[in-house]
This record gives sequence, structure tokens and C-alpha cells, in this order.
Amino acid sequence: MLKKFSSYYKKHWKLFVLDISCAFLMSGLDLVFPIFIQKLVDTYFPDRNFTIAARLVFILIVLYLFRFILQYIVHFWGHVVGIRMETDMREEIFSHLQKLSFKFYDDNKVAYLMSRIVNDLNNISELAHHGPEDFFISVIMIIGSFLIMAGMSLKLALVTFMLLPLMIFFSLKLGQKMYIAFKDIREKVAEVNSIIEDSLSGIRVVKSFTNEGFEKKKFDEGNNQFRRSREYAMKNMARFHAGMNLFINLIRVVTLGAGTYFIYRGELSTGQLVAFLFYVNMFMQPIRRLVNFNEQLQRGMSGFSRFTNILAIKPQIEDKSDAIEMDDVKGKIKYQNVSFSYDNKSHVLKNINIEVEPGRTVAFVGPSGAGKTTICNLLPRFYEIDSGKIFIDGVDIKDIKLNSLRNNIGIVQQDVFLFNGTVRDNILYGNFKATDEEIVEAARKANAHQFIKNMENGYETEIGERGVKLSGGQKQRLSIARSFLKNPPILILDEATSSLDNQSEKIIQASLEELARGRTTLVIAHRLSTVKNADEILVLTDEGIVERGRHEELIKKENGVYKKLYQTEFNTELTAADSLF
Ligand code: ADP
Ligand code: MG
Repeated sequence: MLKKFSSYYKKHWKLFVLDISCAFLMSGLDLVFPIFIQKLVDTYFPDRNFTIAARLVFILIVLYLFRFILQYIVHFWGHVVGIRMETDMREEIFSHLQKLSFKFYDDNKVAYLMSRIVNDLNNISELAHHGPEDFFISVIMIIGSFLIMAGMSLKLALVTFMLLPLMIFFSLKLGQKMYIAFKDIREKVAEVNSIIEDSLSGIRVVKSFTNEGFEKKKFDEGNNQFRRSREYAMKNMARFHAGMNLFINLIRVVTLGAGTYFIYRGELSTGQLVAFLFYVNMFMQPIRRLVNFNEQLQRGMSGFSRFTNILAIKPQIEDKSDAIEMDDVKGKIKYQNVSFSYDNKSHVLKNINIEVEPGRTVAFVGPSGAGKTTICNLLPRFYEIDSGKIFIDGVDIKDIKLNSLRNNIGIVQQDVFLFNGTVRDNILYGNFKATDEEIVEAARKANAHQFIKNMENGYETEIGERGVKLSGGQKQRLSIARSFLKNPPILILDEATSSLDNQSEKIIQASLEELARGRTTLVIAHRLSTVKNADEILVLTDEGIVERGRHEELIKKENGVYKKLYQTEFNTELTAADSLF
């Protein structure tokens, strides 16, 4: 894991080396400062040699200016390394996510993936930059100060460093507790927020069931847990800071006491004692950095392991190496003994056989959950079939490049997804090469031009998040315009008019018929009118395709499923639908 992590440094190794060397130099400079003090106190003060003292001060100024530059480089370019690595990783995971199949998105929540991309990568970036730097700086500072102090007086250095391991142990231990406590706080605040969001967005339901009390109780529980978790974190934080200072003060006192004794015995100079005290003051920094490092390492590494886990997921459906492009598709479709399951266990579809001639329309009817949508989703290879074969124009779809396959299939569904942007952007999504005339033409055919014209800015009108500023019927018409622009030889219409009111439905039905003209069409219908005109009707139940034929044939079957469906489900709309045609 660490090896894989460090491989991301490769591309930015120059910057990384620069960052680390500057961090080295910077800690080195910090380490020499007490030596200057010692020299001042021991040599130049007693001699009253002010020229040399002034020179010393001058050198210090130069060194600190140098340190200023070093710190700037470490701070800026060090972060740049982290930011660039993070950018590389974000790009890698985003393009990987684009490749993953429907199955992956069935099993993973978008919110989870979002937090992977945002939080995990942020933590990884922090570790990438601060990790090595914090570690190197603290190790150099501790070892360096020990060596210098030992050079002045080994005995006193040993006394001073006696307590240091204890202090490091203590701070790492409490640091770990704080890390866990803060992690808990983040979880608790997320819970509270989700309770609030849930309650407020469902406020109408809450009120109509008069469940305010229940909601309040749920909230109080979450809110209290959040409070407790914060108090616990603060307790540990207070212990940490107070404890760190207690240790430093202890070390200070011990050093001062022992130092005074050594001076008394003539084994130490005053300047040396002063230098020692300066070093003791400096201990705080490397220890804080070690604690930081420990925390960043855990956070960054657990983020990184989730990151690599996602990258390790192979797209379920990919092009074969010798996959072909399909030009000039006629639109003949054949399902041959197709079986499919979502979970590799229970078959949703079993031995399905369908044949559709180019330009013909097949309608699927049957109870909800029978597998109508599933059958249609297999054609663009959104899911991989378990056995059997599907052909387009006689070519197995597994032999066709995914892009080429999907470019030849248009899908209009019940749920329309529109992107943030203008009306124009959303229609253009069907074919980015389309001209303005073609866009208007597509909108006209989709019966959308008129309402678009009437909008504030016409085609340039922003449709709001996911199209909130449009009615259901308008959204559907945009999606149909999109499909006109795409102009595929094969079309899938999956209950495209189900959620619409009667008025919109009539308009949209008309444009869908226009869209289907001359294309091979698989239509999942809940309307008699659509079904009646289909070249073949397939009746799908849990048992598979139980009846097939034209409306007139199926309606005659005694005890037929279609006949029953016709009498019950379609009956209520008989008058309305028949008046349509
Ligand atoms: P229909 O369109 O006829 O209403 P579907 O094709 O949507 O039926 O669903 C057929 C069966 O497959 C149902 O039992 C449904 O629960 C299941 N199913 C549909 N989509 C998924 C999915 N993405 N993952 C797992 N099971 C699914
Ligand atoms: Mg369906």
C-alpha cells in the first residue's frame, strides 16, 4: 500500500525533493539558533566584544531571511505537490467511475462515492504533502537537538531527554484518542444533519401525521449524542494540551535544576544552560508534528485504501479487443435464448426469444416487475446476460464496440434526467455536432419548440437544477428532442408517458410516434393505443413471454393473459384511449 502510495510521487519527484530538502535546511537552521545564543552568552557578553556580537546578529538576520525563503518554498511548493497528486488521483477515479457498469451503481450510493472523491482525496493530499515533511522535520529536530546538546554536555542531554520518550508516548496516545473522538464528531454531526434534513423536507408529512413529538425525540437523541461526543473530544484535547505543557515544564525544571548543579560543579557554562532551555522550548514543535503525522497517516491511508479499492473494481462490461464499429445499422434485433439475473442467482429472465424486423415495433406488456425494463436494458448492454445471445443486424452485441452499439440506440424513459444548463445544452446532449437549425428542428418534432419559444430566454433559458423549472411533460419533450437529434435506428420507449397528465400525454404520444417512425422500436406500454398499433405484442409475466401476437389475435384467446389485462387494466382507459384514435 505504502509502495503504491509513493508511486504517485513519481510524477512530481522534483518538487517533492525540493520540498523535503528545504524542510531539512529549515529544521537545521532552527537547530543552530541556540548555538548562537550560547556563543553570545559565554563568549561575547563577558568580553563585551560588541563588534563580534553585532556580526552575530547580522548573520542571524541573514539566516532568518534565508529561512523565510525556505519556509515559503516548503509551504507553497509542498502544498503544490499534494494538490497535484490529488488532482491526478481525482482524474483517475473520475474516469474510472465513468467506465464502471450499471451494476456498480446499483450497489453503491452516489453520496458515498461523492464523499470518497471529496473527503478521501483531501485527506490523501494532506498526507502526501505534510506526511513526509512532518515526519522528517520532527525526526531531524529531535535527533539533531540531542546531538548538539550531547556535544555540549552528554550528562545534561541525557537528563533532559529522560522524560522525552514518555512525553512522545503520552502525546501519541492522547492524539490517537483525539483522532477517534473527532472522527466520532464528524459521524455524529452527519447524523444530526440528516435528521434535520429528513424532518424538514418531510415537514408536510410530519404535520399531517402530527408526529412533531416523534421527530423532536429523534432529533434530541441525535443532538445529545453529538453534544456528548464533542464534550468527550474537548476533554481529551484539554488533557492533551495541558499534559504537553506539563511535560515541557517538567523537562524545563529538571534541565534547569540539573544544569544549575552542573554549572556549580563547573561542568557546564551558563550559555550552554541557556541553549539547553531554548532546545527544550523547541520540543513542542516536533512532537506536535509527530502527533499530526500519526493522524494524517491513518486518515490518508484509510482514504487511500478506499480509493484503490474503487480503482480495483473492473468494469463489468468492456469492449472486446477485436470489437467492431457498426455503420449503417438497419435495426434487426434478435434475442436468442437469453437468460439473465441481477445477482447471478435468481433469474429475472429465462430463455427469452424475440425477433424484430427493421423498422417494426414490438410492445411489451405485463405486470410490474415482470422484467420488461430489464429486457430492454440488455440491448445496449447496460447489463451482461448470463447465457444466450443478442444480435443486431445479425452481429452479436458482444462483438460491437460499446460506443458504437449505444450510439445506435435511443432511449426515452419515464424518469427524465436533465443536466444543469440551458434548454439548448440539454437538447444538444443528443448530438454535440448538431447545428442550431437541427436543434430547432428536433424541438419542433418533439412538440417542444412552441413552449421553448415562450420561455424567458428561449433556447438559452436555464432550466434550473435537474430541470426544476420545467413541468414533467416539458422535460419529457426535451428528452424526446434529444433523441431526435441523436437519430438512432433503434429506439426504446420505457413507459415514457406513464407519469404524465392526460393533456401532456396526448402531445407526447404524438411526438413519440413521429420519433418511432422508420426505427425499430421496443416499447413498454401501459396504454392500449400504443399496444394496439404494435407489430407484435409480447406478454411478459414471471414465467417469461407467455403470449405473443397482434392485438386482434391475442384478444381472441380464451383465458389469455392479454385478454384479462385488456379487460381489467386497459378497460378503464378504453373510452379515453379510443377517443384518441
Ligand atoms: P418491469 O419493468 O417489468 O416492471 P423490471 O425489469 O424493472 O420490471 O424488474 C424485473 C425484476 O428485476 C424485478 O423483480 C426487480 O425487482 C428486479 N430488478 C430490477 N432492476 C434491478 C436492479 N438494478 N438490481 C436488482 N434487481 C433489479
Ligand atoms: Mg419497468
